[in-house]
Amino acid sequence: MKKILADLNRAEVEALVKEQGLPAFRAKQITEFLHAGAPISEMSSLSAVTRSALLEQFEDTAIAVEKKLVSVDGTVKYLYRLADGNVIEGVLMTYKYGKTLCISTQVGCRMNCAFCASGIGGLVRNLTPGEIFSQFSVVNREQGGTAKSRQVINIVLMGSGEPLDNYDNVMKFFELCGEAGISMRNISLSTSGIVPGIIELADSGIGVTLTLSLHSTLDERRSRLMPVNKKYSIGELIDAGRYYFKKTGRRVIFEYCVIAGENDTDGDVQRLKRLTAGFPAHVNLIPLNKVEEKNLRAPSRRAVEDMAKKLTEIGVSATVRRTMGQDINGACGQLRRSYLEGKA
Ligand code: SAH
Repeated sequence: MKKILADLNRAEVEALVKEQGLPAFRAKQITEFLHAGAPISEMSSLSAVTRSALLEQFEDTAIAVEKKLVSVDGTVKYLYRLADGNVIEGVLMTYKYGKTLCISTQVGCRMNCAFCASGIGGLVRNLTPGEIFSQFSVVNREQGGTAKSRQVINIVLMGSGEPLDNYDNVMKFFELCGEAGISMRNISLSTSGIVPGIIELADSGIGVTLTLSLHSTLDERRSRLMPVNKKYSIGELIDAGRYYFKKTGRRVIFEYCVIAGENDTDGDVQRLKRLTAGFPAHVNLIPLNKVEEKNLRAPSRRAVEDMAKKLTEIGVSATVRRTMGQDINGACGQLRRSYLEGKA
């Protein structure tokens, strides 16, 4: 695999332009093309000679859309191919306030959560900053957006991978977003609960929205669902969430994947209240998406709504996450798996 041009920040593109003996204004053009999601071969204002010089060192594009599925509700699933042949998926959701893109930070994942498809084959590799950024830029372009007039408004790091297990590349991805004019307020990072990473992120002053995947209110149960809990307990995770709020002033979102007979009792409702008390928090209830390989039961729609109602009644801010794109595949991570197995 050659290098990825989109990995370079502005200063690095400037250095490259110098090294290639090109006039300085080319750096701005290249950066703008990268923000717009253009492959090198389509950087039309560069000369053919410059493009071929770049293509000797760099891949034409970090990622290419391999397949696209559109749901009746407008949700779009993308399957991307990376330069080394790996594939990852992404989801574009349309809300009243604009489009949100769910992006991946790793190929596979090492967290091995019991309900999630992404960890089934373990971690394959980290994505580079440019591969993470290009998921945004390529989809934005595909949707008719430009670097200045964006179609994709919000970015959520909720695709495959654990962002805090690829910390440095994710931080550089934030830097690339900043240079492209994307506000950190429009980016959410979701973590399974790597506590030192949360503290470091809080101290970095970046100020993205933090989403914590809680999924259980009891350590013993959470450890069974999420092996990361054996290392960082619920108490430590909540303390890290509080610290994040203290440092950034940002409300913390808790994701709670509702699994029938597992984490949906009245006791869970009471414990959720205790855990989220004392700082601005919001609970997002996600009905479990069934994953074929996993032996967990999806709750009824009614049960999830009941849980949200009970939480709201005792003063916990809670909503049920809308399930979107059900007709184009089942759970998170399933498109990639079915593709690899030759079924999609
Ligand atoms: N590794 C990060 C980000 C990826 S997962 C994290 O754990 O937060 C994004 C969200 O989707 C997480 O809250 C995850 O728990 C949830 N999720 C994974 N598999 C799911 C499934 N089968 N049904 C519903 N939500 C799921």
